[in-house]
Amino acid sequence: MSAQEKIWDIPGGIHPAERKELSNRTPIQQAPLPKRLVLPLGQHIGAVAEPCVVVGQRVRKGEKIAEANGFVSAPLHAPTSGTVSFIGPQPYPHVSGMLAPAVVIDSDGLDEWVDLTPHGDYRHMASAELLALIREAGISGLGGAGFPTAVKLTARPTQKIHTLIINGTECEPYITADDLLMRERAGELVSGIDILVQLIQPDQVLIGIEDNKPEAIAAVRGACSERSYQVRVFPTKYPSGGEKQLIQILTGVEVPSGGLPADIGILCQNVGTCTAIHDAVVLGKPLISRITTLTGEALARPGNVEALLGTPVGELLEFAGLDTGKLNRLIMGGPMMGFTLPSLEVPLIKTSNCLLASTAVELPPPPPAMPCIRCGECAEACPASLLPQQLHFFALGQEHEQLKAHNLFDCIECGACAYVCPSSIPLVQYYRAAKAEIRELEQKQLKAEHSKQRFEQRQERLRRAEEQKEAERKARAEKAARAKAAQAEAPAVAAAAPADEALKKLKIEASMAQVALKKAEKQLAAHDTPELQAQVAELRAAAEAAQKALTNAQAAAPAPTPKPAGDEALKKAKIDAAMLKAQLRKLEKIENPDDDQQAELARLRQQLEAAEKALADLESQAPAPAAKPAGDDTLKKAKVELAMKRAELKKAEKAGADEADLQPLRAALAAAEQALHAAEAASGKPAPELVRTERPGVDEKFKALKTEVAFARADLRKLERDESAAGEALEQARTRLAEAERKLAEYQT
Ligand code: SF4
Ligand code: SF4
Repeated sequence: MSAQEKIWDIPGGIHPAERKELSNRTPIQQAPLPKRLVLPLGQHIGAVAEPCVVVGQRVRKGEKIAEANGFVSAPLHAPTSGTVSFIGPQPYPHVSGMLAPAVVIDSDGLDEWVDLTPHGDYRHMASAELLALIREAGISGLGGAGFPTAVKLTARPTQKIHTLIINGTECEPYITADDLLMRERAGELVSGIDILVQLIQPDQVLIGIEDNKPEAIAAVRGACSERSYQVRVFPTKYPSGGEKQLIQILTGVEVPSGGLPADIGILCQNVGTCTAIHDAVVLGKPLISRITTLTGEALARPGNVEALLGTPVGELLEFAGLDTGKLNRLIMGGPMMGFTLPSLEVPLIKTSNCLLASTAVELPPPPPAMPCIRCGECAEACPASLLPQQLHFFALGQEHEQLKAHNLFDCIECGACAYVCPSSIPLVQYYRAAKAEIRELEQKQLKAEHSKQRFEQRQERLRRAEEQKEAERKARAEKAARAKAAQAEAPAVAAAAPADEALKKLKIEASMAQVALKKAEKQLAAHDTPELQAQVAELRAAAEAAQKALTNAQAAAPAPTPKPAGDEALKKAKIDAAMLKAQLRKLEKIENPDDDQQAELARLRQQLEAAEKALADLESQAPAPAAKPAGDDTLKKAKVELAMKRAELKKAEKAGADEADLQPLRAALAAAEQALHAAEAASGKPAPELVRTERPGVDEKFKALKTEVAFARADLRKLERDESAAGEALEQARTRLAEAERKLAEYQT
């Protein structure tokens, strides 16, 4: 062995019966095309894919049927042509027998491909383009883990991958899929490695294969002959194919606990994944099939098949000659790390590297578990240098911290410990359950932590808002105090403003300062803090200053003039006096008042006297009523009076009354004329043109018509002088004058 081919050993490990001869003696066969394919949307680690087809849609082989749903996800493609017949829950390969969302395709038997876009000239492509091709092809790790390959290949900028390791170990008993793939498709495998090399530019490529696969070793070596890739062969031991274990075997370097190979500049890819990369890039084909080992003594024709994803396992086993009478336990994967399938209905998925149809003799049920005898065999077998018995005890006691402290998460669930345990304790089951519990708790804690952070952030926001409010309150109070101080110091300025306005402003400010003080005092009563105490002291000083400014302003303001007694007070005084007078009159009517009535009379007289005095005072305080201009009523009255006196005189003259009787009537008429003049004068309007009616030689009808014309004209002029006179009244007055003039003119003609 040259220095270049140096290999290292790993701790622990076991040598179970390999049973690979059952399936590695025949070439890979093509599995028959199934009538119906079930494609679970979650065939990889990460978010389940999102369907991009609908029920009833026809699809061709290689057509995308579901999109990757996030960065850590992978798309799905139709493995054959046909029609989408269902999208929803379908049987899923899991020990629980659960259903999972899937796209169901009914095959049309044509197996018609979509138009493919091969990239044989990929060497000119940029890394991002190559990565996109790998991502779009839906490739995830075919060794069993199922991690999306494009994600694994997306280099972190700070990490240089110096070593690319190709895993052809296939250490688990019974499984020969990778062995046959390397034997028959070494060219495609090396082509896939070439693509990876172009992508990550490693310093070296190490291909690790156990020494129990001589044909595969020869084939790969042959395919690599013109390349610097090193095929490293090492002794068969389970579980050498574990990623961390293989790295240690090929490089002697241990991946740190809790770390990733990339942390030490190493990247691992399975041989099946490499050929899928070749198919995707060079041929343009997405991942729609895989090589699967069909093995176990319940099969008449065990071997390896290339089967379409979504093929029901029952159909594959039937192809391999399943004897259901012999079948005791059906395992997906190998006997060490695989899991029992509850049904033959489940489909083949991207991570299904083996279907083991075992008989009861071949894989007998484990004997009942016995108590741990602390023999230490498990620790001897553990490839991760763990203490399986300790982990078992901690798992039983749900001591999560201890489990973590004892590196439970470095356990690769290889089952070597359980394999050697003389007490037949199903150790791996305890570890799986404990890991699930811890992950669930950590998720809950993470959620709680997020909630706590959100709560604390909200509290902080509220605190800042409250602080800002307080600062604004304080600024307002200080402003008010400054304004008051300025007013107190500059009375001249205050005097310049209207006194009432200034006083009003000071009152408002004093009131606001009081309100602010009361509010702060309330807060202080609720939360006694030094900050609030200081704030209350400041606000109190501000309120006192505001009150002082108000008091000063009030003292400086002129004394209010006594208000004249209002109409209401006068009215009340008059009513009081009138009521007392009425009561007094009533009592005074009593002819012989008794003593009580006498006393009441005296009291009422006293009250009346006081009421009359109060009324007199109020009347004297009230402003003298302005001489009312004679209104229309007064003038009208005077005119009516004049007309009446004139009519009486005429009547007496007509009746032939003597001079002694006529004289008072003439005097009354003259007085009426004077009264009318006085009323005209009081109205501020020129006296109407009085028509003398006593001229001799004028008949009554003529006089009446002339009088009517005169009054009509006078009324019209009066209205014309009155700016507030209504247009309608003016129009009526003009009509009246015109009518009077017309009648007079008619009479004269
Ligand atoms: S091998 Fe089994 S019995 Fe022995 S120490 Fe480990 S758990 Fe206990
Ligand atoms: S299952 Fe875990 S504890 Fe057991 S041997 Fe494997 S790595 Fe060690």
